[in-house]
Amino acid sequence: MKKSKIYTFISDTYRNNRGGWSRFLTISCKTCRTFLFHYQKDGSGPLKRCYIDRILNRKPKFQRNGFVFCPHCKVCLGFNEPYSKENNRPAIRWAVEAINHKILPISETTV
Ligand SMILES: [Zn+2]
Repeated sequence: MKKSKIYTFISDTYRNNRGGWSRFLTISCKTCRTFLFHYQKDGSGPLKRCYIDRILNRKPKFQRNGFVFCPHCKVCLGFNEPYSKENNRPAIRWAVEAINHKILPISETTV
């Protein structure tokens, strides 16, 4: 039997501070298109960083120097940059043009 898991939105102060509106994104490497993880994006606005607590699976590993690399093509994707405006909430700051994101349709939130 196939195991399935339904994503539900994490709802907390962070989400409320962004208007209580969220969607799921699929994050992938822009260079080689390797899937990286699913992500809950709260509020509108560009995706400059990803908060670790919103990564739904396969949390990326920071190297000792704080950088994150694509597990497939090894390109540098971003770096560890806690978000100071939210009590140093752990986050990845993406390098420019490093990742692709697309909206995950609700029908595909069962994985
Ligand atoms: Zn890659």
